[in-house]
Amino acid sequence: MIYINGEFYKKEEAKISVYDHGLLYGDGVFEGIRIYNGKIFKLTEHIKRIFESARAIYMEIGITIMDMEKLIIECVEKNNKKNGYIRLVITRGAGSLGIEPNTCKKPSIIVIVDDIQLYPQDYYDKGIKIITSTYRRIPIECFDVRIKSLNYLNNVLAKIEARKSNSQESLMLNKDGYVVECTGDNIFIIKDSVLKTPDTSYGALNGITRNVVLELADKLEIKSKETLISRLDVINADEVFLTGTGAEIIPVICVDDITIADGKPGIITEKIIKSFKNYILKN
Ligand code: PMP
Repeated sequence: MIYINGEFYKKEEAKISVYDHGLLYGDGVFEGIRIYNGKIFKLTEHIKRIFESARAIYMEIGITIMDMEKLIIECVEKNNKKNGYIRLVITRGAGSLGIEPNTCKKPSIIVIVDDIQLYPQDYYDKGIKIITSTYRRIPIECFDVRIKSLNYLNNVLAKIEARKSNSQESLMLNKDGYVVECTGDNIFIIKDSVLKTPDTSYGALNGITRNVVLELADKLEIKSKETLISRLDVINADEVFLTGTGAEIIPVICVDDITIADGKPGIITEKIIKSFKNYILKN
């Protein structure tokens, strides 16, 4: 059952207005959230992030953080989902044609609860191939892409580019040429036993999985650093992996046709994956 503005609908009947500015202009924000063993993973963090995204685009959601949490829990219960994925979308709502957001009376709140499997298991076991995208991440002076908005065409085009090169993901650089993230995931490298990820100030989303990985590294006594990373650092890394709510933690074994280390998921990556699997059982 899909929630739209106060009502639950069957999947086939869940529809929104063609005048919704989320559709017409990508005027809205979203979150992807996991359910593991009947528990919603990092719900508070996701709700906090969507409220911050909404605030940044001058959108009043119209309900409190607490009521939003209750709503998500209700949607999961209604679908009786023990393991799965929640897509929370909040758009500016239906308005008239023309970009003016003031014509939208009320935001549309949509909650989809479904299954998810971003990649086949084989990719988790053997690692994925990525390329460096020719599309640079949108610079902060144009739009701060750390706002999780419905404008994902920059990422979509980079993803298409990856597919065209028979790769699974695209590495996105910022306009200065430094590594930011992939199209829907944060990136980590390991060099000389130190775990590194781009600082969010270079334009990377403040990923919730990313933050869990940093916390786990600390517990595992793996030294970690949020720092400037270049493409050269990635191709010469000992290990590379990506993190995201949908993809979880996925090893990368090849970048632009250059094999990373011995072309297999690394030992530290596997340690972190194991620790992540334990973590999601307990949190
Ligand atoms: N970067 C981008 C561009 C994303 O869209 C996402 C979420 N899919 C991530 C990174 C990962 O963030 P999280 O771990 O919070 O899902």
